[in-house]
Amino acid sequence: MFDTLSDRLSGIFSKLRSKGRLTDADIDATAREIRLALLEADVALPVVKAFVARLKERARGAEVSEALNPAQQVIKIVHEELVQVLGGEGRRLQFAKQPPSVIMLAGLQGSGKTTLAGKLARHLKAQGHQPMLVAADLQRPNAVNQLQVLGGRAGVEVFAPEPGNGIGDPVSVARQSIEHARRHMRDIVIVDTAGRLGIDAEMMAQAVAIRDAVDPDEVLFVIDAMVGQDAVATAEAFRDGVGITGVVLSKLDGDARGGAALSVRHVTGQPIMFASTGEKLEDFDVFHPDRMASRILG
Ligand code: GDP
Repeated sequence: MFDTLSDRLSGIFSKLRSKGRLTDADIDATAREIRLALLEADVALPVVKAFVARLKERARGAEVSEALNPAQQVIKIVHEELVQVLGGEGRRLQFAKQPPSVIMLAGLQGSGKTTLAGKLARHLKAQGHQPMLVAADLQRPNAVNQLQVLGGRAGVEVFAPEPGNGIGDPVSVARQSIEHARRHMRDIVIVDTAGRLGIDAEMMAQAVAIRDAVDPDEVLFVIDAMVGQDAVATAEAFRDGVGITGVVLSKLDGDARGGAALSVRHVTGQPIMFASTGEKLEDFDVFHPDRMASRILG
């Protein structure tokens, strides 16, 4: 991830190394190149525009510094602006005052929701919580089974419709799961929901019905970092359709250009909270904007 963008940026910065000080023309030329590099990495246009405007303004206003040469100064500004685009300080999960806290996962089919549910359960269990997984993705024939396997690996209970009862209604499964969690002293309920390959009204209506049934403390939107420019439309649809409180980037281990990662915070207005970096349960971490920005800058 980000390999091309990293290479492009280091090429741009190396041209500045020989300069004693930067003229306005140097700054404009650098800003133009960075704009192109970001666009080619599939970063959404409004994000690129705002980024480049801030960069120019700050580079022009930068004091001549003893400690940093012009190239280092520009790198520092780009780093700080990348951190901002990725969400600044980051944020932790919000829990309910009265347990159980409910975390609902939403996103397209294949985005990595079910895998993420298992990872999040493992992560929260390691922190001393008593999480429970809920299989409310009844659209995909194998999803319940997949969640049960992941729950088994994480050592976490999975609440699922009884076998033999037909497909079942995901909204009532979700509602019953909260009662079950209360009775069994689970303090966090993670609800996996169905996605489709594209946005459709029926899927969104079901997600809204599940949301209303479980009254979540967090609605985490899981987005596959490989999707490129489609990320914006998908993120907007979930933001407006279900309402989301946080974002999880999945498949950050892939070799996509990284635009989704850099656009999704701006588009949703919500922080990126976790990153998924592989198929195994342990390929998962809290998202750190600062570390990601450093990785992009190499
Ligand atoms: P869902 O339809 O949203 O529940 O998506 P799944 O959790 O079933 O994931 C879809 C596919 O992506 C599966 O084959 C997962 O093993 C794979 N997957 C999920 N997360 C990641 C990740 O972070 N990296 C990689 N490389 N694969 C992932």
